[in-house]
Amino acid sequence: MLSVIRQAKESAGAPGARLRARWSRRRLLEKLAGIPGVYIPSFYSVEYNKNGGVQSFTALRPELQSCVRRRLAPDLNDAFFPTAPVVPLAEAVHERGMLEVFRGCTRGCRFCQAGMIYRPVRERDPRTLLRQAREIIDKTGYEDISLVSLSSLDYSDLDGLLPALGDQCTLSRTGISLPSLRVDSFSVGVAQKLPGGRRTSLTLAPEAGTQRLRDVINKGVTEADLLEAVAAAVAAGWSAIKLYFMVGLPTETQADLEGIGDLVRKAQRAGRSARGGKKLRFSISASSFVPKAHTPFQWEGQLPRQQLTESHAFLRDLVKSSGADYHWHDIKTSFLEASLARGDRRLAEVLFEAWRRGCRFDGWTEHFNFDLWQDSFRAAGLDPEFYAGRRLSYDEVLPWDLIDVGIDREFLVREHRRALAGVATADCRLGSCEGCGVCPSFGVEPRLVKASR
Ligand code: SF4
Repeated sequence: MLSVIRQAKESAGAPGARLRARWSRRRLLEKLAGIPGVYIPSFYSVEYNKNGGVQSFTALRPELQSCVRRRLAPDLNDAFFPTAPVVPLAEAVHERGMLEVFRGCTRGCRFCQAGMIYRPVRERDPRTLLRQAREIIDKTGYEDISLVSLSSLDYSDLDGLLPALGDQCTLSRTGISLPSLRVDSFSVGVAQKLPGGRRTSLTLAPEAGTQRLRDVINKGVTEADLLEAVAAAVAAGWSAIKLYFMVGLPTETQADLEGIGDLVRKAQRAGRSARGGKKLRFSISASSFVPKAHTPFQWEGQLPRQQLTESHAFLRDLVKSSGADYHWHDIKTSFLEASLARGDRRLAEVLFEAWRRGCRFDGWTEHFNFDLWQDSFRAAGLDPEFYAGRRLSYDEVLPWDLIDVGIDREFLVREHRRALAGVATADCRLGSCEGCGVCPSFGVEPRLVKASR
């Protein structure tokens, strides 16, 4: 924010000289609005229709565009990246250095907001990454460095990067970790070879129990991929596996829930056979589907809470009968998340009310008070169900249409229709452009260090 203010002040006069000038809040907002990518809500009005949805947006100043366009860094090698972050004295949750290998992901999972709004893929050169990793380790003293991208093992020059990074990290006795793995034996093999890479538990996310539903969400993972990954994990010495699934996905049926039970049993068998008859510890984690803005599933509603509760209870019994643990994400929290994820600016009042009534640290179950949130919605005269559960139509104005992320609406509609028909869409890194619109819209291209493998 400070750099944006600096930019606003510098664009208004001589660089540096005016930085100390005091501007009124109004003047500052006016100047900030002139910077591409900055959204000042009070400079737009929203009109609502009779059913409570958004009817239109109006820019209140003639110089403003009808919507706000996000900014995009075409080449991450030139972009700022913090290599000397503040290191807290207290133990932090993620106590490691972060190395952003690339930005964007075009695998095209249809529920994933990050996979849509950060397109196209822009990889950093290995030399930039090695330099940044060295600086992070030198300046922070962290003993672990994490490759944080949406699917880090999709980096096109992994064969060039990892050995060099591994050598550098071995010298400084730094481990390399990966926040998520693709569901395949290749990824497991790579993770095992990383310095400090083999830990007790490995996490894989097939997301859905049947191939039909995995095609609906465009997950691009098969049962064979999962079973091979489990066998590879055993061969690499892992003794516990966590599997992630989502409940309440669009078009889900009872057969899809039963499919999760089947898949878990098959994975257990694959693990036991790879361990010479010894059992592998499995833990199953399931969240509830939350429709997100700017994704092909933005028009889908979340299932009613009662139905989600029944689905999770059914799955818990199914999974526990096979001897695996089952954990599910709190349904009320997911409901609240869905209400906010597809909300409009009227929810600002709900947030303020909730804060006023004492809601704090709601992500921690011991602090989460659903009643307070319901009271806050009531006080604002709004219904959370309206935002979370309503199925939206293609022709209605969406509250987030005011923000242009560069993805064509037609592409999202096409992807939604393909989802309902169970048709997968390929990753544009591996073949031709799938026409999401972001590259022509920004005049950029995906930046891969190496052509697709
Ligand atoms: S415009 Fe084409 S190449 Fe660019 S991100 Fe979208 S699908 Fe990929």
